Order: sequence, then structure tokens, then C-alpha cells
Amino acid sequence: MALLHILQYPHPGLREKALPITVFEKSITQLAENMLETMYEAPGIGLAATQVQVAKQLVVIDTSENKDSPLIIINPKIIDKSDVIVNEEGCLSFPGIYANVTRSERLILEYQDIKGEVQRLEADDLLAICIQHEMDHLIGKVFVDYLSPLKRNRIRKQLEKLQRGKS
Ligand code: ZN
Repeated sequence: MALLHILQYPHPGLREKALPITVFEKSITQLAENMLETMYEAPGIGLAATQVQVAKQLVVIDTSENKDSPLIIINPKIIDKSDVIVNEEGCLSFPGIYANVTRSERLILEYQDIKGEVQRLEADDLLAICIQHEMDHLIGKVFVDYLSPLKRNRIRKQLEKLQRGKS
């Protein structure tokens, strides 16, 4: 396994649209394992392939308290959603930035697992929020896109300053 580099906003790679996975070969398993390791190390509760510059429809999530329930979600589709919840979100591509985002509180997800088998999952609260956040990454969308242009600009400047300070 290996740690992957997580792109930081406003890297243009975060705007890439991911393509569906059609062949469930070993390289996909490896990618998922590396993404899980990277997510746990960060630490975070979700990571999308586009965040590690791979334009494939794969996300990994673990919202459990003990970090022992990894979920590998491929080619996800939300087939039903209900109710609305506002929650403060963060993102591994936006270190130190948190903002309130409105999401659906409950959803039903259809996706493929690492073997390519179709699965159905009912999710609510944090897991539902996390799924929607990660699925946004697969279409090149990030959580600050829900904020006003003014707030988004302020965040971009904050992050650019941080990145300059690092190099
Ligand atoms: Zn994110």
C-alpha cells in the first residue's frame, strides 16, 4: 500500500469529471486500498478518486467511530433522497476550512462494490452527507461551490497563502 498525494484547492484537477469504472481489475482494488490508507492517515472520513488525481468514479468512506467500517463505492447513483439538513463540512482538499452546507438528510444509493456487484445502501445523517460530498467530487464540484462567491474567494486566498507558506 502507499500514501497518495491529495490535491489542494484550487488545483484544476479538482474540477475533473470522473468516468465510470467498467473493468474491475486488480489496479482498482489497489487504488481503493491506497485511498483508504491515505484517508485514514489524513485523517478524514471520505476521499474521492479525483482528489488524488484519478478521474474514476470511486470513493472511499468510513464514518464509523472506530474507523473499522471502510466503504468502497464505485459508480454511485442516488436513486432517492429526502429531508434536508445543514451541517458544517470540511474537506481534505481544504485543510482548516469548514463551512455550512445544505444536503439531503436521507438517501438511497445504488453503487458497485469492489467486485463489480451492484449494491444498495440506505444512508442518513453523517453517512448521507459524506456520500453527497464525495459524489460531488466525482463531477468536479467542491463544497465551497455552495457558498457565496465572496466567501469562496476569501477561502481561496486563505488556502493560497497557506500553500505559499509551505513551499
Ligand atoms: Zn472533499
